Amino acid sequence: MTSSARPLLNRRLAEFGTTIFAEMSALALKTGSINLGQGFPDTDGPEEVREAAVRALRDGRGNQYPPGPGIPELRTAIAAHQQRRYGLSYDPDTEVLVTAGATEAIAAALLALVEPGDEVIALEPYYDSYAACIAMAGGQRVPVTLRPGEGRFRLDLDELRDAVTDRTRLLLINTPHNPTGTVLTREELASIAELAVERDLLVVTDEVYEHLVFDDAEHVPLATFPGMRDRTVSIGSAGKTFSFTGWKVGWVTGTPALVTAVRSAKQFLTYVSAGPFQYAVAEALALPESYFTAFREDLRAKRDTLAAGLTEAGFSVFHTAGTYFLTADIRPLGETDGITFCRALPDRAGVVAIPTAVFYDHREQGAPFVRFAFCKKEPVLSEAITRLQGLRT
Ligand SMILES: *Cc1c(COP(=O)(O)O)cnc(C)c1O
Repeated sequence: MTSSARPLLNRRLAEFGTTIFAEMSALALKTGSINLGQGFPDTDGPEEVREAAVRALRDGRGNQYPPGPGIPELRTAIAAHQQRRYGLSYDPDTEVLVTAGATEAIAAALLALVEPGDEVIALEPYYDSYAACIAMAGGQRVPVTLRPGEGRFRLDLDELRDAVTDRTRLLLINTPHNPTGTVLTREELASIAELAVERDLLVVTDEVYEHLVFDDAEHVPLATFPGMRDRTVSIGSAGKTFSFTGWKVGWVTGTPALVTAVRSAKQFLTYVSAGPFQYAVAEALALPESYFTAFREDLRAKRDTLAAGLTEAGFSVFHTAGTYFLTADIRPLGETDGITFCRALPDRAGVVAIPTAVFYDHREQGAPFVRFAFCKKEPVLSEAITRLQGLRT
């Protein structure tokens, strides 16, 4: 037996209980609610990509440990994708690393680059693994709050600048941004880049929604800005782009020094993963542009459906320029606390959403906001909307 005086879970992780997704998904199951909480699509990705995985598995490709940095075919496809879309040139042999999803890439990057006591700046509300990974690396997280303004969540560049201290090691930037649906503008990104260069900071960018930008929004990788290629670890993933979130194939691109550092941590986390799926993702990345366009259009239409439905149900809905998610303000419904609201929503309306407050250090900043996922079939969204219409009465 362990001493009862000492908790089992160590101090670094003590503040992170089970994730809100576990609680809310269990609630969805128990109440038979429509789950617009967790962000995974309810339809699988392209048939030919799935077939490519089956083929690899049957042909015995990837059934044993693949190479540590990832199979050459996938590394080449990732480099070609970065070149084709963004004009970023990476050597597949020294500047690309395949990981177990973006999740491992984030963890490995932080474990590799952060020294205990280093400060890491992240935009809040943040993706739920960031805080835990910074903590596991012994870093100190410094949140910079995205604040509502002109119908979207915006970065206050002065606030970001003020957050940088002599102990700041890196900026952890996510755009398109989960949970707010904000896509940082070229101007915002240029300012972040200038700051990183001026203060000699490393930057880790989470770009898993790079293909999910709508209307006239544009995804611009931070690595494309002057002085940034040498200090940026860029992270991508097949999960969101190809609707195979269970495959967990992600990647890192950066200079040989950065990629080697990240790999030093990665090799002791999973070493390698997803052998046959790596072959399939290599093919997926080479899909014609029409796939990406159709995928984006499909999600845009779903965003519009859900945004209109939530508005009609009485929420005030923020503009989403990218990702799977819409953020809604519950105050027009006479509510103020998203956590209470979301816990009651399955019983009140048979729908599950996520209170955004849990993604903040400054919880009060996110109190009246809730996040809905729209990466679901149209009939599912319509049914959810119908159910939510009763909230006003
Ligand atoms: C889904 C998600 C991830 C995790 O990606 P995986 O490839 O599934 O590990 C990372 N960051 C953000 C912002 C996400 O939404």
